Amino acid sequence: MAAFSPRFTILLPTPSPSPSSPLSASATLQQLADWDCGLACVSMVLTALNIPRSSPAELHGICPLQNIWTVDLAYILRRFGVEDFTYYTSYIGVNWQYLSKSFYRDSITEDQSRVHALFAGAADRNVRIVPMILDMNDIRRFLISGKYAVIILVNLSVLNCGTCTKKGYEKISGDDFVGHYILLAGYEPDSDTILYRDPGTNEVLCAVDADDLDVARSSLGTDHDAIVVRVA
Ligand SMILES: [Zn+2]
Repeated sequence: MAAFSPRFTILLPTPSPSPSSPLSASATLQQLADWDCGLACVSMVLTALNIPRSSPAELHGICPLQNIWTVDLAYILRRFGVEDFTYYTSYIGVNWQYLSKSFYRDSITEDQSRVHALFAGAADRNVRIVPMILDMNDIRRFLISGKYAVIILVNLSVLNCGTCTKKGYEKISGDDFVGHYILLAGYEPDSDTILYRDPGTNEVLCAVDADDLDVARSSLGTDHDAIVVRVA
């Protein structure tokens, strides 16, 4: 960790106590249903960029899907005029390995043609997709710059937030894979801790060891999906 500045950095401003502040809204913004964590993360990014009409409810209106894929989120960022973002993935398209996962089984066939069309049209729509696994050190550097947020797909079953665990919050459990989007928002080099907002909780900031995040974002089912977006 010596390569990193020992300065604590958090890119999203600390929420003001005023409930009218857009950033205080983004800080506590929770998903509305059990499938829209991705929309909630995009909404937090758009709110940080002061882009209006980007609440989760409004995003539902333009993306009325229940099976939201990361490529859908990238297209929404483009639709709202966000310029500087890149979607990294280890798999372009619909990964048929996931047919064995109950999380995907019901929807994967109906999603296939839609998702493939989005990937195929991405270059023409100026949606930048890079077929590689974003290195954890790159994630650390993006976060410590204070300029980028990362929407990342994790397996919630193996993601353990230190803050929520201390408070004794119950976690969804059961399946071996529960896909969940979270928004990485900061990095603490002394403890090698990633700070993030989890739209499934009302915690302002959750915290996880970087190595543990790496495990959760590398589970079979995530394709290592991550969208790095400049927010400052
Ligand atoms: Zn937490």
